[in-house]
Amino acid sequence: MDTAKHIFVTGGVTSSLGKGIISASLGKLLQARGYKVTIQKFDPYINIDPGTLNPYEHGECYVTEDGGEADLDLGHYERFLNITTSQANNVTTGKIYNTVITKERRGDYLGKTVQVVPHITDEIKRSIFALGETGKYDFVITEIGGCVGDIESLPFIEAIRQARWELGTTNFLVVHLTLLPYLKFTGELKTKPTQHAVKRLLEAGVQPDILVCRTERKIPQEIRKKLALFCNVDYDSVIEAIDNPIIYEVPLLIRKEKLDERVLTKLHLPLLPEPDMTEWEVFLHKLKNPVSEVNIGLVGKYVALPDAYKSIIEAFIHAGANHECKVNVRFISAEEVKDEKAAELLASLNGVVITPGFGERGIEGKISTIKYARENELPFLGICLGMQCAVVEFARNVLNWETAASREYDETSAYQVIDLMEAQKRIVKKGGTMRLGAYACKLKKGTKAYESYGREYISERHRHRYELNSQYLEDFEKAGMIAAGINPDTALVEIIELKDHPWFVGTQFHPELKSTTLHPHPLFVSFIKAALVCKKRKKTHVPY
Ligand code: GLN
Repeated sequence: MDTAKHIFVTGGVTSSLGKGIISASLGKLLQARGYKVTIQKFDPYINIDPGTLNPYEHGECYVTEDGGEADLDLGHYERFLNITTSQANNVTTGKIYNTVITKERRGDYLGKTVQVVPHITDEIKRSIFALGETGKYDFVITEIGGCVGDIESLPFIEAIRQARWELGTTNFLVVHLTLLPYLKFTGELKTKPTQHAVKRLLEAGVQPDILVCRTERKIPQEIRKKLALFCNVDYDSVIEAIDNPIIYEVPLLIRKEKLDERVLTKLHLPLLPEPDMTEWEVFLHKLKNPVSEVNIGLVGKYVALPDAYKSIIEAFIHAGANHECKVNVRFISAEEVKDEKAAELLASLNGVVITPGFGERGIEGKISTIKYARENELPFLGICLGMQCAVVEFARNVLNWETAASREYDETSAYQVIDLMEAQKRIVKKGGTMRLGAYACKLKKGTKAYESYGREYISERHRHRYELNSQYLEDFEKAGMIAAGINPDTALVEIIELKDHPWFVGTQFHPELKSTTLHPHPLFVSFIKAALVCKKRKKTHVPY
């Protein structure tokens, strides 16, 4: 039985208003009152998951512990609530149709015409209730991607409408996030787009209980009254969500607006205890009052869209706050870094990270960056493809295997130092077939990795097809690149480090995915510490 209270978060007027942040912030406030909360994202696109999408389409592809390739909003949920999500927390139209069509072929609906209503909507409802039915949660927040009025979100809205009757009104609540545009020339906040957006919801049979309004200005009382009157909500259910560059401040802002209290009252729950946000406030205080700063270069090929590297950017924010240090992330297009230009682009940095990625574009620039970092004692963190590039760079420039490469972009090299994993060789389908999710790793004592984590066994999340070719490991280790982390079951190399470098670490996994406000990732924390040392040394000209 589904024993959870359900909160649905829909969006109107436009997409990209920050439904993910609002959902995560509300979830945080409820969690801080002692409730067990989870959040799920419903995406109306037809892809089964975002694993096959270019990051320019929807930003980074997040990976869950159980190997799900998921929407980046799941990253916000994990970072805010310090919880882990799973494949069940991200449902797409593609997954829903896939299930229904598989059932149809199996004969589950024998004799019946399979239709959007009831078969697709029933399947959506099954997904809505699935997490609640585990009995693990007091609240399940369901964020509906896209915008009300989009053709593809209609079945989801209809499923929400029906869910109300199944759950009962005291277990069901709709929060609608909209935009109040500000017209400079008349000096007014306009309510009409919100009125229209709510009408679209009403046409579909759903009455929002609470309106959360994104705005660049404070919402005057008369505008709140107007919104309440024309959108059928209580006056105190019009919540202001004022623009704020620090997403981690949003829980406190919506708390001031009493969003959590409105939710509890409407769901017939007590207003006590108050949320305990002490740890959150400590984090926020450190974040907002840095005593130092460092410049970190982020070299990648999707730098025009920072959302493509969301988790890395947030991991730097968490690690920076830990050191009370402002981390200025400088985005550098990998294609711009050429050997001769590397010094000019990288000299002012205190550390550099080479991002994950796929394909050949930008590889040479990444390798040039790594060469510069290795030779100039610049702290370096290579993530997944970044680690693989570090291995190629070392093979080419230290071991002098000039043609060394990864099989991903060079089938003919005599030195495939990065090669396709055995298990990947027979795979032809692209979707969901990489090495995905959490795997164990054993750290070597005396390494930077061991020092950072402070323990021998760790578990980290993966998303890749290629790996370090262990046939060459002995040559690498003799020349100073060591395997600092090994998978205890398969012996795959998960972390490489340079012995004679102040901080040079490459990970085959994605450490950024497990960094949260409460638990900044140890490798990021250690990397920022190294960047601070690098900055000091540069200033005082003290060599290592
Ligand atoms: N393209 C590389 C691989 O598949 C690296 C993947 C990544 O950076 N996530 O192994």
